Amino acid sequence: MVTRTRATATTSKTAAPKRRPVAVLGATGTVGQRFIQLLENHPWFEVAEVMASDQSAGKSYAEAMAGRWRLPTPIPRAVRGLKVRGPGDLIRSRLLFSALDAAVAGDLEERYARAGHFVSSNARNHRMDADVPLLIPEVNRDHLALLDRQKHAKQGGGLLTNPNCSTIGLALALAPIHRAFGAEAVLVTTFQAASGAGWPGVPSIDLLGNVIPFVAGEEAKMESETHKILGRLTGRGVVDARFPVSAQCHRVPVIDGHLEAVSVKLAQKTTQRRLAEALHEFRPLAGLGLPTAPEEPILVRTEDDRPQPRLDADRAGGMGVTVGRLRPCRVLDWKFEVLSHNTIRGAAGAAILNAEILVQAGRL
Ligand code: NAP
Repeated sequence: MVTRTRATATTSKTAAPKRRPVAVLGATGTVGQRFIQLLENHPWFEVAEVMASDQSAGKSYAEAMAGRWRLPTPIPRAVRGLKVRGPGDLIRSRLLFSALDAAVAGDLEERYARAGHFVSSNARNHRMDADVPLLIPEVNRDHLALLDRQKHAKQGGGLLTNPNCSTIGLALALAPIHRAFGAEAVLVTTFQAASGAGWPGVPSIDLLGNVIPFVAGEEAKMESETHKILGRLTGRGVVDARFPVSAQCHRVPVIDGHLEAVSVKLAQKTTQRRLAEALHEFRPLAGLGLPTAPEEPILVRTEDDRPQPRLDADRAGGMGVTVGRLRPCRVLDWKFEVLSHNTIRGAAGAAILNAEILVQAGRL
């Protein structure tokens, strides 16, 4: 059964604001735990259901997470006793956040959307589908209109996705630069945190004191997703941005926070000051009142040794991207570092912000 009641975030004098019930799919994994943590005090959404694989199904969330909860805050009291549902079980919440393993996300998400649910997904499976928004609300919220093209729209459901955890920092930082000065070519080298591989992820004996110059599938995702996100919505769908992107991805022994070294060639000549201003002034969600939107999506730091994952990944609750070391490049035109929190801005936080923009747009 699909709940279709329209809860709002407005308050009345007598009653506390009603929070919309939501479900977290893949609630026991690395990203699923982040959803549970970030939604604990969310003013609009309340976790009413959790779902995971058959190995967790039937247990209470606290039982399923025994020895597996990896965050420094405790499992929220309101979620501890929820019974974990399995992949075939009925879900009632209309809004679903998906942190499902990519091996199963494709079919399951599709099935839920067809049944009238809105699925805000982290998984890669549907990101590049022509009728699925690959959304960064600050960058391409007009792409939400793709929802109307989905076959699920007739049933009242829909599927929207957030980018891969390494794409989001790159695409967010490139957006104001591309708009103002026209990107013509981009080189990016990533230094990606261990948590990006889920839990237990890369064996510690392989990663400690080491760098692994390969993250499966990541380079292709960074290249194609960036083009879609920075693409233009037309009557026939999204026309991808065309500038070449070349990515080289590395796994490093950092817990959270993907750092990326970017060089960019621009169509228009500019100055360091104008570039920094374009990044700093990029605040397209200001005034919309979205609970998860950072006030300053991109912070430009001027110190020689920032951003650093340990010092900067948690900025703005993990939703703020930090740019630093903005300087001329002798091969392309400009180069800089960009850092984003991979399980918050790059995963759960991104999907929550996407759902907030759905609500704000009156689609949910
Ligand atoms: P993870 O730690 O391996 O968690 C996977 C989740 O999927 C678990 O809750 C697992 O449940 C559930 N699951 C597995 N098989 C299932 C099945 N047959 N039916 C229902 N549930 C099933 O993975 P993760 O790192 O959190 O990543 C989750 C998704 O987000 C992936 O698609 C990943 O690519 C994407 N993502 C991850 C990051 C990141 O930084 N980690 C960033 C962006 C996107 P059990 O615990 O019961 O097995």
